[in-house]
Amino acid sequence: MKIIAIGRNYAEHIQELNNERPSSPVVFLKPDTALLKNNQPFYHPDFSENIHHEVELVLKVCKEGKYIQKEFAHRYFDQIGIGIDFTARDLQQQCKEKGMPWEIAKAFNGSAPVGKFLPLDEFENLKNINFHLQVNGKVRQKGNTNMMLFDFETILAYVSRFFTLKKGDLIFTGTPAGVAKVNLGDRLEAFVENRKLLDFEIK
Ligand code: ZN
Repeated sequence: MKIIAIGRNYAEHIQELNNERPSSPVVFLKPDTALLKNNQPFYHPDFSENIHHEVELVLKVCKEGKYIQKEFAHRYFDQIGIGIDFTARDLQQQCKEKGMPWEIAKAFNGSAPVGKFLPLDEFENLKNINFHLQVNGKVRQKGNTNMMLFDFETILAYVSRFFTLKKGDLIFTGTPAGVAKVNLGDRLEAFVENRKLLDFEIK
C-alpha cells in the first residue's frame, strides 16, 4: 500500500506557515514504513529538533482506479479515519530553502500514525465533518471539512491522474491551523466528531 498526502489544504494553516495558496493540490507520498497503527508509541528520532503534529482526516481507498472523474470519486473510498502527518519542520525548512524534495522531513519511519476508521455511511455530510487533536488533554488543532480548499472528491480525482489508486491505499487530506512541536512524553488523542479514534504517546 501507499500513503498519498495533501499539503496546504486549509487556508489558516497556509497562513501560519507563510505559504502560498496553491492552485491545485500539493501532493507528496509516504512509504508503508511510515505507517504507525494500533496506537503504538511514536519514537522521536534524533535527526530533528522540531517535529510537528499535523492532524488530518484520512480516506481509505476501496478499489483500484486511475483517471477517476470527480463525479465518481466517492465510489473509490469507503472509510474515513484520522491520522497525524508528522513533519520534521527544521528539515523541511532546509529542503524548501534548497528547492529539494521533502521526503526526509515527511516520510520517515512512523511519520503516519493512523487510528480506527469509520464507514462512510456513519457520516451524514462529508462537507461538514468536525475533527480535532488534543495534546496532553488540551485541544491543539480543530478542523472541519467545510474549510478545505480541495474537497475529498477533488483530491481523489486529482491524485488518480498521476498514481493508480489501489485498495488499502490511504490519502491524508491536509491539516488545519495549530501545528506545533511534539515533546517526549506527550499524549496525542485525535477525534472525529466526538469519537476518539487515535490515542498514542511520544517516546
Ligand atoms: Zn500534512
